[in-house]
Amino acid sequence: ERIISPQARVQEEVVDRAVRPKALADYVGQPVVREQMEIFIGAAKKRGEALDHTLVFGPPGLGKTTLANIIANEMQVDLKTTSGPVLEKAGDLAALMTNLEPGDVLFIDEIHRLSPMVEEVLYPAMEDYQLDIMIGEGPAARSIKLDLPPFTLVGATTRAGLLTSPLRDRFGIVQRLEFYSVEDLSSIVARSARLMGIEMDSEGAHEVARRSRGTPRIANRLLRRVRDYAEVRGDGRVSKDMADKALNMLNVDHHGFDHMDRRLLLTMIEKFTGGPVGVDNLAAAISEERDTIEDVLEPYLIQQGYMVRTPRGRMVTDLAYKHFSIAPPER
Ligand code: ADP
Repeated sequence: ERIISPQARVQEEVVDRAVRPKALADYVGQPVVREQMEIFIGAAKKRGEALDHTLVFGPPGLGKTTLANIIANEMQVDLKTTSGPVLEKAGDLAALMTNLEPGDVLFIDEIHRLSPMVEEVLYPAMEDYQLDIMIGEGPAARSIKLDLPPFTLVGATTRAGLLTSPLRDRFGIVQRLEFYSVEDLSSIVARSARLMGIEMDSEGAHEVARRSRGTPRIANRLLRRVRDYAEVRGDGRVSKDMADKALNMLNVDHHGFDHMDRRLLLTMIEKFTGGPVGVDNLAAAISEERDTIEDVLEPYLIQQGYMVRTPRGRMVTDLAYKHFSIAPPER
């Protein structure tokens, strides 16, 4: 499994709990999101109302779940968590919703993967706090209506385009998370090191931050592996040199790329003369799922300018040729 995968690993949630920020003030970076949420949360609290339904989108590991938790904390309400694929039947959602207290946050991760039937139930619940479900089967089936307390739905998804428009339209607040700058990631790494009791200087933090693909989850994971290295090969202190050696050992290069990134870019260069190539062809060529390319691999490579998405498919840029010291073809 990739050390730099932005997706959470089993177990990781537990170790992450110690470093996950609980207050908006500790949410590093994302200045636009932070300022807006501060105002919306402040206003809702002042009026004594539930916060408007909030949609958060962005690549994995950027802080969607963290933001949902912070919203609940700042609103001083409970958070109930579920995810799109887990809610198989309308009844699953109804069971969760009838347990909500006024103002509570219901967090649905991967909300783009809700079944159409469950999504139908969500519409009136979001709009009028009304639950409209069928119980029983056959001739005995009947529909019942239940009033729900006012609540806040926080939905998370990797790409806004994956949502149906009736669902998207029902969110009053929409926030898009961006990749983090190296400076912001350095603060996150330094803060995590402090909380985990790791001795680390600012150059050490910077080195880990620089190679974390703009993603806090990866930064925290690399920090834990760098600590292991420093404890066994050194005296436990994390300097730039120590971080560099540890990350080289983990095959994370100076741009934060690993074999998967290199394979994706090299395949485009060598098999498809740099593109344009359709994402399905590309997926077949590197034996990866299309979703993995779209959600996990390409967002950072695009953001960093190594490839672009065009109407005719994906293309590598000159920067990618330069990365591999290959001469770009005459265009
Ligand atoms: P997502 O839900 O988008 O996949 P998470 O919210 O689970 O991502 O974030 C992954 C980890 O990264 C969290 O456990 C947290 O420790 C860290 N993190 C995310 N966003 C921030 C932030 N803005 N400031 C500090 N740490 C963050």
